Amino acid sequence: MNIPPNLPNARPESHLFYQTRQRRPLLAEARDVYMWNVEGKRYLDGSSGAMVSNIGHSHPHVLAAMRAQMEKSTFGYRLHFETDPSERLAAKTAALMPEGMEKVFFVSGGSEAVESALKLARQYALAIGQDSRWKVISRRPSYHGCTLGALAITGYAPLTDPFAPMMQAMPKIPAPRAYLDGLDPEDPATGAHYAAMLEAEIIAQGPETVLAFIVEPIGGASTGALVPPEGYMQAVRDICTRHGVLLIHDEVMCGGGRTGRFLGADHWGVVPDIIAISKGFGAGYAPLGAMVAQDRIVGPVLDGGGFLHGYTYAGNPLACAAGLAVLSVIEAEGLVGNAARIGALLKSRLEALMEPFPFIGDVRGKGLLLAFELVADRQTMAPLPAAMNAYVDLVELAYAEGLIIYSRRTRDGREGDHFLICPPMTATEAHVDEIIEKLTAALKAFAPQALRAMTK
Ligand code: PMP
Repeated sequence: MNIPPNLPNARPESHLFYQTRQRRPLLAEARDVYMWNVEGKRYLDGSSGAMVSNIGHSHPHVLAAMRAQMEKSTFGYRLHFETDPSERLAAKTAALMPEGMEKVFFVSGGSEAVESALKLARQYALAIGQDSRWKVISRRPSYHGCTLGALAITGYAPLTDPFAPMMQAMPKIPAPRAYLDGLDPEDPATGAHYAAMLEAEIIAQGPETVLAFIVEPIGGASTGALVPPEGYMQAVRDICTRHGVLLIHDEVMCGGGRTGRFLGADHWGVVPDIIAISKGFGAGYAPLGAMVAQDRIVGPVLDGGGFLHGYTYAGNPLACAAGLAVLSVIEAEGLVGNAARIGALLKSRLEALMEPFPFIGDVRGKGLLLAFELVADRQTMAPLPAAMNAYVDLVELAYAEGLIIYSRRTRDGREGDHFLICPPMTATEAHVDEIIEKLTAALKAFAPQALRAMTK
């Protein structure tokens, strides 16, 4: 069908560019879960941007904290000054992490957090005399960032293939997509089955060459809110420990409370060696992220000559003041609990949509990191034809209804189009009603073409 994008009026050619020539309405204002364009059309931010605006837009407490910090200082170069907001945010972050994750390194986004984790891991191996370890195993599909290091461990061919000659090829194992493989995610044998793939890969590569394994505890854009099968996270931890491989959790999207626990991995009580966190950490108020690591990893690196890595804007006091205020709002308003409660309601309402819309093949996720996937056949989980561009069209139809959702098509030949439904953690029951109402309207408009594809 290829729905035309919802651009209200023609505007002059822009000097600004991102991925495509596609234009978007001009944003006028955003408050809590709502955003308005300059023509006054209101959108419910059903994906928190790209799963970023976890506490909603323009929260007065964060704005006040940022204003207050701006009056004092907006920059202090880390080699010249320590700043109070960065010290306090590091302490607060460490307190929210699992036992032993005590050292915090600030960055300005998710790719930087992942890149930093890779470089810390390598420097740790060098510091303890394990120079042969450099390979980082990741999963396919996965997304870990757009910089060349983070991209090398990303399992998403359309983004990685063009740059292959510029990157070091890194080993990949399949993500545990039990729903596609016809396995029961509740059965511990399923978790063991996928975890065994990691051990086999470590052995095939030669354990003495493997530096780390990186995994999103709960999948984000690439797998569409994939929750690992029973026992998987614990088994992966054991395998890494057994082979001296560092375990890196990419919590860039699932960290910060959205899944109903502060970290995605908190659902399983698994402690990694290094964590990357970003999106919900700055929550859209400031470009902010962090790499958090165990003291036993950071110690040898600092003692062995220092960490050879750092960004000019790292630990920016304004960004850190925003981060501190975001964490205090999450705590004061009980937003992690709200994400669990409202997320359970929203998930059950999404599941109910499977009845009228047989082309919804799966609903998954935890808390307010939720997704549904469209299929041509629920039994085989065959995707809708790629040429239908469902991942574009349904988003445009929802957009026209005033609902923002986020989509991806993995194109690894198996997975269909999936849609992330991830409103801010401030969402209420009334917002859930509104999301379902608008989504139902978009799905109804989309249904004729999907149903045609199903009967073929
Ligand atoms: N890791 C994960 C899991 C992500 O979801 C993202 C962003 N989608 C990144 C890393 C990269 O973050 P950024 O876009 O902030 O660089």
